[in-house]
Amino acid sequence: MLAEMGLRVWSPVATLPAEPEPVLAPAEAPPAVAAVQALPATLRPPAVLEVQPPVAAQTTRLPAIAHMDWDELRSSAAACRACGLCAGRSNSVFGAGPSSAHWLVVGEAPGEQEDAQGQPFAGQAAQLLGNMLRAINLSIDAGPDADLPPERQVYLSSALKCRPPPGSTPGATELQQCHPFLARQIELLKPRIILAMGRMAVQTLLGSSEPLGRLRGRVHDYQGTPVIVTLAPSYLLRNLGEKARAWEDLCLARATLQGLGPP
Ligand code: SF4
Repeated sequence: MLAEMGLRVWSPVATLPAEPEPVLAPAEAPPAVAAVQALPATLRPPAVLEVQPPVAAQTTRLPAIAHMDWDELRSSAAACRACGLCAGRSNSVFGAGPSSAHWLVVGEAPGEQEDAQGQPFAGQAAQLLGNMLRAINLSIDAGPDADLPPERQVYLSSALKCRPPPGSTPGATELQQCHPFLARQIELLKPRIILAMGRMAVQTLLGSSEPLGRLRGRVHDYQGTPVIVTLAPSYLLRNLGEKARAWEDLCLARATLQGLGPP
């Protein structure tokens, strides 16, 4: 199975470099974030800061996002300050791939490398994902102008567009604030199938906090588009024995799409 996926033997997670603590630039932090940063370290909350825009701002923000084109949406995500995660980003991680792709892969949240590159999935996770998708004849290497048929094209996105502080777990607030960007991406892309990779992708797409193990192995629905739940590449890198499950999920996704017939 590993040979078919083109996977090599991975190094144990212990060899991966540790992520440094984030350095928040006071000038860029929203007022609520700056106020918390000013507290002594012992008084700061350990969790991700939850900063919601005023209700009035939300009522104009959401309809605006729902009508944006690709360029407007990308710019809006890059400038977004709707939750506290904006304070820690170097780059917003919007998405990558051809807008004609039939496949949409939704990951969780940017890590250090994704934040630095502004790309969803980077480093070893991107390499593993690329190998997995190649095993079912898909490609994530192609740019928007690549001469690949849409059924082999993949668009990559993520549940959150900004990097959470290392060691923190983004909550429902951040996912809720960021969901309009992903929702609009899906409206514009009109994928034929979605792979939800990891807990945050599942939570934002399906609104479910059930363990992935209970959601894998069947076809879910996001506004008429089939969704297959699977494991995140970063998780697979730490749990080598789980790759067989990911392979099962990919096979289910491929069979589901084939079952839909021609577009
Ligand atoms: S994570 Fe999403 S909602 Fe939060 S600041 Fe970034 S783009 Fe905005």
